[in-house]
Amino acid sequence: MRIDRDGPVIVWLRNDLRLADNPALAAAAATGRPVIPLYILDQTPSVRPMGAASLWWLDKSLTALAASLEAIGSRLILRRGPTREVLEDLIAHAQPAAVVWNRLYDAASIDRDGGLKAWLKDEGIACESFNAGLLNEPWTVKNGAGQPYKVFTPYWRAARDRLHHVQVEPAPNALPAPARWPPTEALESWRLHPTKPDWSTRFDLWTPGEGGAAERLDDFLSSPVQHYDRQRDLPGVEATSRLSPHLHFGEIGPRQVWVAARNAVEAGDAPAGPVETFLSEVGWREFNHSILFHNPDLPKANFRPEFDGFPWMRDDAAFEAWTRGETGYPIVDAGLRELWATGFMHNRVRMIAASFLVKHLLIDWRAGEAWFWDALVDADLANNVGNWQWVAGSGADAAPYFRIFNPIAQGQKFDPVGAYVRRWVPELASLPDALIHEPWKASAQLDPAARRIYGEPIVGHPAARERALAAYRGLKGEQ
Ligand code: FAD
Repeated sequence: MRIDRDGPVIVWLRNDLRLADNPALAAAAATGRPVIPLYILDQTPSVRPMGAASLWWLDKSLTALAASLEAIGSRLILRRGPTREVLEDLIAHAQPAAVVWNRLYDAASIDRDGGLKAWLKDEGIACESFNAGLLNEPWTVKNGAGQPYKVFTPYWRAARDRLHHVQVEPAPNALPAPARWPPTEALESWRLHPTKPDWSTRFDLWTPGEGGAAERLDDFLSSPVQHYDRQRDLPGVEATSRLSPHLHFGEIGPRQVWVAARNAVEAGDAPAGPVETFLSEVGWREFNHSILFHNPDLPKANFRPEFDGFPWMRDDAAFEAWTRGETGYPIVDAGLRELWATGFMHNRVRMIAASFLVKHLLIDWRAGEAWFWDALVDADLANNVGNWQWVAGSGADAAPYFRIFNPIAQGQKFDPVGAYVRRWVPELASLPDALIHEPWKASAQLDPAARRIYGEPIVGHPAARERALAAYRGLKGEQ
């Protein structure tokens, strides 16, 4: 980075809340100048504002990051407000020689960051951006015709081929401090932790921050990964890494995940096959970021425009029943209740619950996407929109619309003894395994509160399936 004047370097941190393998931070440290780590909370609608569960996570992640920075002689400067205004104020105060950051890939962030880069350069302030968030940035993986891939398997084959020399940078062990720190805000004054009511009382399974992320990865690679192939679809078993919120906030980067997983295989500590399956899931994260980058309207518009005429229904009561986990289908309800209680939902259940909303209830995927956005601790624009469109059939390499999940059969297959349903829908806990996914058949055994929801589901599966298929045929102009 060429720097033409005296002054400190501002590192503007976004979804890269870590010290290790953070190229913007490393570049700032390498200048030998004072470093000012900065986080800006900008909830104006220019870039999609974070949802409630994300803000819960951010609160803890920033606390952890501030402590890590203090341990190496630095600080985290916190500011809230429209990004440009905050930067103008800070620049007037700190007179930096350079501002650096790690890149984001959604259109609104790209627009904003491009504008800031031009402005900073006009001001004579050096500016550089880096890649902390992806194994391959979206413009680097193209097919033989120079076009971005639209199908996952060839995408991942090409992307994976580029990953022979992945390296990670260690965390700096000291950061020079400026002679005078710019003013910061108190994190508590942002009131990111919910009160009245505090709906996060069961979020204690999470340890946001770089340390928590490293521990999750270690734990996962030390044992659960061995059964990942066979068990990753079973929501009643803790068989997946639960790294998604850590990856979203950049408390760990995909290069670190990649290198640790490959090292575990080479050391004989983890089996190659399941590790490969796990890494291909990380590949889906990469694919979704590529699709979003190349299709900037994706959060609003169908990837496949033929879905633009789909006859979505407006049914507020059904939508509310879905959000509350009161549809009458135990596996769907368990998922929505897990989401509400913990800010997370198992991937298989996300697919079942999302499919139920768009196919059984014929509610627009955008309504479900918005609910997940607010409720998930791992809410991520590329992954959320990409997966919702995948389920709806309107996305890239999507599940065909006419393949409609049967929520009873899905429950029986992936939660065969009802372990997951019993945990999240306790009013069904005493039902025998054979009836746990069809509680209406045991209506007499249910207490009145349970019978209100499970005496009869909000829509019958065969009729809802027929209705969805008819809507799809109508879209295609068939009878
Ligand atoms: P693991 O199985 O351990 O996988 C490792 C990592 O790979 C994950 O942490 C995640 O970063 C990535 N990954 C796994 N599955 C997918 C996938 N299908 N698509 C993209 N990346 C994947 N994931 C998000 O991170 N944020 C979201 O907002 C999000 N919304 C979703 C909405 C719907 C309707 C569906 C069906 C899936 C969504 N996913 C989302 C993908 C997936 O459900 C989660 O990434 C996964 O459940 C996280 O659990 P894990 O970390 O234990 O995953």
